[in-house]
Amino acid sequence: MIPVAFDYEVAESVDHAIELLGQHGDESKLLAGGHSLIPIMRLRLAAPTVLIDLGRLEELRYVRDEGDHLAIGALTRHRDLLFNDLIKEHCGIVGYTAGLLGDPSVQHRGTMGGTLAHGDSSGDMPSVITALEGEIVIQGPDGERTLKAADFFQDYMMTDLGEQEVVTEVRLPKLSSDVGWSYKKFARRSQDWATVGVAAVVERSNGSINSARIALTAMGATPLRASAVEQALSGASADAVAEASESADEGTSPASDDAASAEFRRHLARVWTRRAVEEALSR
Ligand SMILES: Cc1cc2nc3c(=O)[nH]c(=O)nc-3n(C[C@H](O)[C@H](O)[C@H](O)COP(=O)(O)OP(=O)(O)OC[C@H]3O[C@@H](n4cnc5c(N)ncnc54)[C@H](O)[C@@H]3O)c2cc1C
Repeated sequence: MIPVAFDYEVAESVDHAIELLGQHGDESKLLAGGHSLIPIMRLRLAAPTVLIDLGRLEELRYVRDEGDHLAIGALTRHRDLLFNDLIKEHCGIVGYTAGLLGDPSVQHRGTMGGTLAHGDSSGDMPSVITALEGEIVIQGPDGERTLKAADFFQDYMMTDLGEQEVVTEVRLPKLSSDVGWSYKKFARRSQDWATVGVAAVVERSNGSINSARIALTAMGATPLRASAVEQALSGASADAVAEASESADEGTSPASDDAASAEFRRHLARVWTRRAVEEALSR
């Protein structure tokens, strides 16, 4: 279907984008890679009267080493992450997951800021950033603020972003050699969205697990931490993984839809949590 007619503005800077959002009000929308926004406009589930294109803001396209963390600009494309050496060295789960998002055309256009701001709980990167306990930097008319991923995602396709705010950066802790990771994505066909996904970031030493951070994709309205599993694994040995994973669906509220029933999603969450933690321990 053809989207409803809209006007088009090009943002020359982040400040200019914020100014344009103020000028055009809540009928306007930021455009990054367009790979979530344009499809929903074509379905007429969104009908912004003005699109404000961030696409030329090359200053928001970077991966930087900031000492204890990596900073990723909001306009960094999934494909940039897949092949970035800093990401490979310090935060491999992000590059690996970027390579699972849709197909190469999606990866070449879609951006880190766009996938987070879109707030779809079936999106892979929101769970990964949640498991990493990353931070999201937001700029608005009143200046800059930084939010933990867990506070950013509020409800299904709802984030803490205000109407005149722009995501500018994502900050991720560098993972030390004691930390293993895995992202497991179950999809009915390759390149599909996740039916269920599990991001696991596990710190281990001398054969036992110090801490595990596990976030689930498509198990509720937002990325959800598998808190019961995390608690059971804290200080446990690798032998505890299978039993602990049986609580992976505790506190979740998966939907039933064409891809899977809620019950099957619960089953997947348990099985894929075990596999993700086992893989993280072996990495
Ligand atoms: C065929 C197909 C398959 C896909 N498969 C997957 C998949 O398997 N897994 C997955 O996770 N994703 C998938 N995607 C989505 C893809 O990852 C998108 O790139 C991503 O969700 C949105 O990024 P974008 O840059 O395209 O954002 P856009 O579509 O441009 O924007 C999305 C929303 O975010 C807002 N926005 C964008 N940038 C900012 C910013 N910097 N600050 C504030 N608001 C902003 C926009 O206003 C809009 O509301 C798929 C998409 C397609 C078309």
